Amino acid sequence: MMRSATLAATRASFVMLLAIRSTATILFFMKYCSECAHPVSFIVPPDDNRPRYVCTHCGAIHYQNPKMVIGSIPVWESDGHISVLLCKRAIEPRHGYWTLPAGFMENNETTEQAAIRETVEEAGANIALQPLFSLLNVPQVHQVHLFYRATLLDLDYMAGTESLEVAMFRESEIPWHDIAFPTVSHTLKLFFSDHEKVRRGGTYGFHTQDIMKSLRQMEPG
Ligand SMILES: [Zn+2]
Repeated sequence: MMRSATLAATRASFVMLLAIRSTATILFFMKYCSECAHPVSFIVPPDDNRPRYVCTHCGAIHYQNPKMVIGSIPVWESDGHISVLLCKRAIEPRHGYWTLPAGFMENNETTEQAAIRETVEEAGANIALQPLFSLLNVPQVHQVHLFYRATLLDLDYMAGTESLEVAMFRESEIPWHDIAFPTVSHTLKLFFSDHEKVRRGGTYGFHTQDIMKSLRQMEPG
């Protein structure tokens, strides 16, 4: 009886967290302890300097830290022209807007593995990963976005379940007003700028940027 009540409470708090998250609210609100299902308090723990969700019943401190969003810039080159693969999002937030293939890094994988996995899942694309190209801090939504350059090995891509459509774009064709996230448009602009330098004998750089934008624009899927 006790056990089922605890499980029910845990499940209820989990469902609530998912519901809150799906509204694109970035703060990961917590009401019940995931260890013992008692209500948590939002307080500064001893010897700490900021408020955390703390369970005064079992003593658990529920730390929350930034999430990594990893993606790729899949490129196809023919006749001296390059095209970049973009995915039209089939999910919220930013349903119907275009993005580079990217998503939350999973446990037990490297950043390289995450970039390849997301590219396969969202675009069904076979890529050879190239060096890391951009790192964008998005502190307001507690995220760090990383994008790797990538070479498409073929054009046998296909929209995954999170994409409505997958297509190749030359620079002049990029739907700049319909890009899902600022981190993606920044990365694309940096990429085409660097590519022009490469055409003239230069090299691709590694770019870092801090982005301060509204919450609504920031959450990737
Ligand atoms: Zn607890």
